[in-house]
Amino acid sequence: MNPRRRPRQVVAVFDGRTHHVAWCRGFQDGLPVFGWGEAPSTLLTRSQLREAGLRPAGQDPVALLVFRHHRPYARETVAELFSTVRAALKRIPTPAQQAALGRALAARRVCRECGRDVGYCVPTSTRQCWDCFDLDHRTALGEVA
Ligand SMILES: [Zn+2]
Repeated sequence: MNPRRRPRQVVAVFDGRTHHVAWCRGFQDGLPVFGWGEAPSTLLTRSQLREAGLRPAGQDPVALLVFRHHRPYARETVAELFSTVRAALKRIPTPAQQAALGRALAARRVCRECGRDVGYCVPTSTRQCWDCFDLDHRTALGEVA
């Protein structure tokens, strides 16, 4: 249902320490639904929290943001809204974690056939670079002796 068509009603959103009294467009799954640009400023989506250097920290969503994109094919999008009061600071990986991540990403770039680091992630299905894949296929087709 288009959130703009819903009658607006007053709701109190509890987000940890504070109660927000705001106009919402109804309820879905027991959570107040806000339209685009209508949610209280202390309620953010996951990506908005990430941009602000925060993370949900295991909290359940306190409200929903429902909106439609401008493009005609785009469906209604529902985003969970989290409280900034209950959010925690984004975790910063330790040097060891960053090194492990670097090694894992490097391993994804190595072809299992020629053993080169090809500079892009090889497909997980073949683990081959495109040169080796191409050669294998042409060999299978009898194009190369
Ligand atoms: Zn290769």
